[in-house]
Amino acid sequence: MAEHRSPQPAVPEHLADVTSHVLADEERIRADLEDLVRIPSISALPDHTDDVRRSATATAALLSDAGLEDVEVLELDGMPPAVTGSWLHAGDHAPTVLLYAHHDVQPVGTAHRWHSDPFTPTERDGRLYGRGAADDKAGIMTHVAAIRAWLATRGSLPVNVKVLIEGEEELGSPHLLELLQGWSGQLDSDVIVLADLVNRDVGWPSLTYALRGMVELTVRVRTLEQPVHSGLWGGAVPDALTATARLLATLHDEHGQVAVPGFLADVRPTPEVERERFAALGTEEQQLRRDVQLLEGVRFTGHPDSTFEERLWLRPTITPTAMDVTPVADASNTLLSEVTTRLSCRLAPGQDPDRAAQALIDHLVGHAPFGAHVEVVTGAATPGWLMEPTGPAWSAAVAAMTAAYGREPAAMGCGGSIPFVGPFSEAFDGAPCLLVGVEDPRSNAHGEDESVHLEDLLRACLAQALLLAELADRAGELRR
Ligand SMILES: [Zn+2]
Repeated sequence: MAEHRSPQPAVPEHLADVTSHVLADEERIRADLEDLVRIPSISALPDHTDDVRRSATATAALLSDAGLEDVEVLELDGMPPAVTGSWLHAGDHAPTVLLYAHHDVQPVGTAHRWHSDPFTPTERDGRLYGRGAADDKAGIMTHVAAIRAWLATRGSLPVNVKVLIEGEEELGSPHLLELLQGWSGQLDSDVIVLADLVNRDVGWPSLTYALRGMVELTVRVRTLEQPVHSGLWGGAVPDALTATARLLATLHDEHGQVAVPGFLADVRPTPEVERERFAALGTEEQQLRRDVQLLEGVRFTGHPDSTFEERLWLRPTITPTAMDVTPVADASNTLLSEVTTRLSCRLAPGQDPDRAAQALIDHLVGHAPFGAHVEVVTGAATPGWLMEPTGPAWSAAVAAMTAAYGREPAAMGCGGSIPFVGPFSEAFDGAPCLLVGVEDPRSNAHGEDESVHLEDLLRACLAQALLLAELADRAGELRR
C-alpha cells in the first residue's frame, strides 16, 4: 500500500475557513470526479457525440451547483459543446480570472492493457484510475472545488471569475480561435489559469512557463525521371537516396544539435538563471536512460554541457519521422530517382514557425547535393509559448502552491506543443497564463491505466482556492 498522508498545508490564518472547506470536501470532490469519469466523452469518436454532450451538461451542473452564474452549454456549428459561466461581483478593483479545463477525453487505446474498466473509476494504492481521471476532468474539479469553497464559506469570490471548459481539446481545439474571438467580451480576463498540465512529481507541483512549437515539412528529392540500372549508370549518375542522406546530414552537428544557422536565428539564448533553475531540478542521466529505454551504448544528443531540460524544453529539433523509399523486400539494382521525407521540427519557445520553416526550406534547396531537385511543402505549424517566470500572477501561483503542497513549485518547460495556450494569451492582450495541473509523471494521460493521485488532487484543489486570494492580493498589479 502507498503511504497515506494528508496534505499539511501552511495556509495563511485568514484563509483557514476556505481551506477547511476544501479539505472537508474531499469525498464529494472525488465522487463528482467519478461521475464525470463514468461519461465516455471521447471527442474523436462520432459514436460518442452524445456522451460529449452529456459530459458538458454534467460539468455545467457542477459549476451551477458551486454557485457560478450564467452557466451555459455552448454549441457552435460543428464544435463539441463547451461550458462557460462566470461570477463577476468582486468589483472593478478586483482582477478577472479565466479558469480553463476541458471535459473531452482521449479514446481508451488498447482495451486489454487497462487493469480496470476505463469508465468505471477504480481506486488502487491512493490513485483513482479511469479515462479522464487526470486529463482533464481532475482539472475541472480544481475549478469547481475552489469556487465551491469560496462561495460556501464567504458567499463571494475574491476575484471576478470566468470559466471555460472546452469539449474538443483532444482534437486540437479546432474552434478555439473562433470561440475566443466570438466570445472575447465574455471571456476577456486579466489572468488565465489553464489546469491541464503535468506536475514534476507527486507532491511536487509545477508551473509551466515554456512550450515548444512545431512545424512539419515534406521534402521531395529527385535526381532522375525514372530509376535506372545501377551497374550501367552507377558512378556517374546520382541517386535520390544518397542525395537525401547527404542533405539530411547537413541539418545537425556532431552532437546531433540543429546546425542550420538561419533556422536558429530567432532562438533565444538560455539565460544563466534558467540553467541554474534546471540544474536544481536534479535530473539524473541514468534515470532518463531508463525512462526512454535508450539502448546500451547509445548516447544522448545535444550539447554535452547543457542540461537535459534545456535540450528538451528550450532548443529546437529537426527530425525525419517518415520516408517514402523502396522497401528492402522490393530491392533491385537500380539508382533511385525519387525519395520523400517528412521532417518534424520542434521549435524553441518564441520562434516564429513561418520564419523557421522558410529558413529551413532555403537551407534544403540551397544545399541540394549534385544539383538534385528539392521541393518542400510546409504542413501544420504551431508557435511555441514563453512567459517570463516572474510577475504578480506567477508569484501569486507560487505562493498558493507552496502553501497547499508545502513545497515550492518547479518552474517547468514542456517539450511538446499545446496549441491552445498561445491563442489565449494573444486574445487577451498578452494576459499572463498560469499553466497548472493535477497530473504527475505516472498519470499516463492518453495511455492505458490513466490515473490521478487522490491526495495530489486535493492539494491541487486547495492550491486553486488559495490562488484566487493571492491574485486578489495583487489586484493593483494585475488589472489591465
Ligand atoms: Zn488535457
